[in-house]
Amino acid sequence: MLQKNHLVFREKIRSFMEKEVAPLAVALDLEQRFPDELIKPLTDEKLMGMLISEEYGGSPIDTISYSIVIEEASRVCGSTGITLAAHNSLGCYPIIRFGSDEQKKKYLPRAAQGELIAFALSEPDAGSDAGSTRTYAKKENDHWLINGSKCWITSGTKAFASIASAKTSKNPNERAITCFILEKEWKGYATGKKENKLGLRGSDTAFLHFDDLKVPVENQLGDVGEGFKQMLITLDGGRISIAAMALGLGQGAYECALKYAAERKQFGKPISSNQAIQHKLADMATSLEASRLLIYEASRMKDAGQKFGHYSAMAKLFASEAATKVCATAIGILGAVGFETGKYPPERMWRDVKLCEIGEGTSEIQRLIIAREALKRVEANEPL
Ligand SMILES: Cc1cc2nc3c(=O)[nH]c(=O)nc-3n(C[C@H](O)[C@H](O)[C@H](O)COP(=O)(O)OP(=O)(O)OC[C@H]3O[C@@H](n4cnc5c(N)ncnc54)[C@H](O)[C@@H]3O)c2cc1C
Repeated sequence: MLQKNHLVFREKIRSFMEKEVAPLAVALDLEQRFPDELIKPLTDEKLMGMLISEEYGGSPIDTISYSIVIEEASRVCGSTGITLAAHNSLGCYPIIRFGSDEQKKKYLPRAAQGELIAFALSEPDAGSDAGSTRTYAKKENDHWLINGSKCWITSGTKAFASIASAKTSKNPNERAITCFILEKEWKGYATGKKENKLGLRGSDTAFLHFDDLKVPVENQLGDVGEGFKQMLITLDGGRISIAAMALGLGQGAYECALKYAAERKQFGKPISSNQAIQHKLADMATSLEASRLLIYEASRMKDAGQKFGHYSAMAKLFASEAATKVCATAIGILGAVGFETGKYPPERMWRDVKLCEIGEGTSEIQRLIIAREALKRVEANEPL
């Protein structure tokens, strides 16, 4: 499915990630440290504005190439993978897709130059049911006044701006939600501490608190009441990158297990000469390749302007569950050394990849999306 240009691009990105990112991965995880020093090389490599047009300072690439970047980053470091994915497809994308010219001019060049933008949808009482947001925006003359909290926000403390959803109607029967572009420097915008997580420990995940945050009307994103739809459209694309993240993590763990199995000797021969180990390796390789095909097809559909939301849900569901299994199997192939923290990548990748079954909609929610689309087709008498 990949064209020659994609293969050449993968080689270039792989060599960048191996040179710049891989050497930091273990320390970022063990020290729970955000890789500030990577932002400049990532920017110089044109990876901070991958979806932004040249007019606004970006270096746009197609979605398959974008997936390759997230896959290759995650193949060596999940924390870098999620930081890139959240910035490009969740932070920048809503401005690219729904922003005014002024908003694009103001925020996208800064984003392409390496200043992070976060996506703030989740709240303590609005996770899977993101529409039940409690953050409230009240219109007052030429500004909005926003109060509320967002949780689990990737790049929460580092981002200079965030795209946040808020209710704009007090009517409990109305799910009127509007999105806003908020700036960290504004009075009333506070960030919590970086969360202590099982995995992706180098990524910056934090609460955001808005306390009488005064937001100019020009920072409203699109029309009033359109916010929930905007968030769902953004997540349709974002799920391709979570799937690519899972694939990269699975691939990293698989490659490590494959090499280890060929080198490790027990009973006087490499453990890879046992059929039981070979079967595990074969299953790992097959599930990764199936994920890859789903991801590239979802990417192709997005670029072709086809309806792809159910397909990106399938890619995320399959790739994340497959990679979680691949990483666990890789630990098993390594035996005790696989269980040691910081020694071989699979244990870190196993902890990292679990997020891919949770973030941007859990596996249960992906199944709901896929089934809903299938049932709609039955109702509409469309091909199944
Ligand atoms: C590392 C990390 C980074 C994140 N980054 C961001 C970010 O940048 N921006 C952001 O807005 N959010 C972010 N999130 C939040 C993430 O999107 C939510 O955690 C996710 O949507 C699930 O919400 P929840 O954790 O509240 O789980 P809940 O919604 O409370 O779900 C708990 C369990 O119930 C199940 N469940 C819920 N409803 C149903 C149902 N109808 N049917 C069947 N099962 C159901 C779920 O599948 C899950 O197993 C991040 C989370 C993590 C861990």
